[in-house]
Amino acid sequence: MTDLSQVALLGMDRAELSSLVESIGEPGYRAQQFLEAVYRQRVESMDQISTLPQQLRVSLAEKGIGIGMPRIEQRFVSQDGTVRYLITFADGQSVETVWMPEGDGGEVGDGVEAGDTGDGSAARGWGRATICISSQVGCAVDCQFCLTALLGVKRNLSAGEIVGQVCAVLKDQKVSPQHDRVNLVFMGMGEPFLNYDNFIKAVRLLVQEVGLAESRMTVSTAGIVPRISEFGQEAIRPRLAISLNASNDDLRTKLMPLNKKWNLERLMAAARDFPLRNRERVTFEYVLLHNVNDLRENAEEVVDLLRGVRARVNLIALNPGPGIDFETPADESVAAFQKILRDAGILTFVRRPRGRDIYAACGQLKRTVEIATAPAR
Ligand code: SF4
Repeated sequence: MTDLSQVALLGMDRAELSSLVESIGEPGYRAQQFLEAVYRQRVESMDQISTLPQQLRVSLAEKGIGIGMPRIEQRFVSQDGTVRYLITFADGQSVETVWMPEGDGGEVGDGVEAGDTGDGSAARGWGRATICISSQVGCAVDCQFCLTALLGVKRNLSAGEIVGQVCAVLKDQKVSPQHDRVNLVFMGMGEPFLNYDNFIKAVRLLVQEVGLAESRMTVSTAGIVPRISEFGQEAIRPRLAISLNASNDDLRTKLMPLNKKWNLERLMAAARDFPLRNRERVTFEYVLLHNVNDLRENAEEVVDLLRGVRARVNLIALNPGPGIDFETPADESVAAFQKILRDAGILTFVRRPRGRDIYAACGQLKRTVEIATAPAR
C-alpha cells in the first residue's frame, strides 16, 4: 500500500503511478492521465489537471498527493541570452539550472548540432537550446577549480527533482521537446554517478515520458570508474563525457582528489572499454588553467592518453570566480593546445563560455545570489 502523505507525482514512472491509482481505488486509465499532465503538460498543481473530475482533484489534494514541481526562485539573465535559474525544492534546498539558447557551443560535430529546424524556432532567435541540470545539492568531489565544490554536498536530488528542473525550465521558456530542439547536459551541480539510481531513473522518465531524445543528452562524470562500466550497460542512456582536466596522475590528483581512488590508468581503461554506439564518441572535458595544465607537454600527454579511444575533446578556458586560485589562459594558449590535439587527429573543440557575467558558466554554479546583474524578471 502506498503511503500517501506528501506524495509527489513528479518522479513516478508508469508502474508507480498505476499502483498509486489502484491504491486510491481509481480506474487504471488515470495513470495515463497523470503521466500526460505531469510530464507533457507540466502542470504545477493538481487543480490544473483538467482531465480529472473536480471532486477527485480535491480529494487527492486532501490526501496530500501533489505534483512536486520545484519552484523557480530567481532568474538571472546574461547578455548572451543564457538564463541561470535558482530552483527550490519542497525542503527549501536549492540548485541551479542553466538555459542556454543556441546550445553550449560544445555540440558541433557530435551529431547533435542543428540549424534552422524549419519550425519557426529561428524566428524566436534560437534554433536549439541546451539545459544544464544539477544532480545533487552541492558536490562532494572537490575539484579545485570549481565553485560548486566550495559548497560541499548537502544531499542527493530525487529523480523527481532532477526531472522537475527540466519541466520547470521548459515551462518557463515555453518550449517542448516535441517541437523544439532541446539538448540536455547533466553538468550542473553535483556528480551524477554519485547519485546513480536517481539519475538513471530521471533519464528514463525524461526519455519515455517527457520526450527528450537520449542522443541529445550528455552526462559528465569526474571519473567514478565502476559507474562508468555500469552506465555502459544501460539500455537507455545519455552520451558519456569524462571531466579529464589533467594529463598525468600527479597533476590530476592535485586538481581532482578523486584521482587517488580512480587513477588515469583505470579511468582510461573504462573509457576504452565503454560500449559506444554508432557514430558515438566519449567526450573529454578539459578545463584549461593558465600555466598549470595548458602547456605543450600537457597537450602531448593528452594525445598519449587518448590513444585507442574514440574521443572528442572539449577545451574550456577556466571560468574565473571568487575563491578559485587559478587563472584563465590566454586565447593563444588555448589555440596552441587545440592545435596539438588536432594535429594528432583528435576531434577537439573550444567551448565558448556562456553566461560568465551571471556566474552560469561551467564550474561557476554556487547558488550565487548577490551579483551585479540583477534578476531580469
Ligand atoms: S567540477 Fe563537477 S564533479 Fe568537480 S566539484 Fe565541480 S560539480 Fe563536482
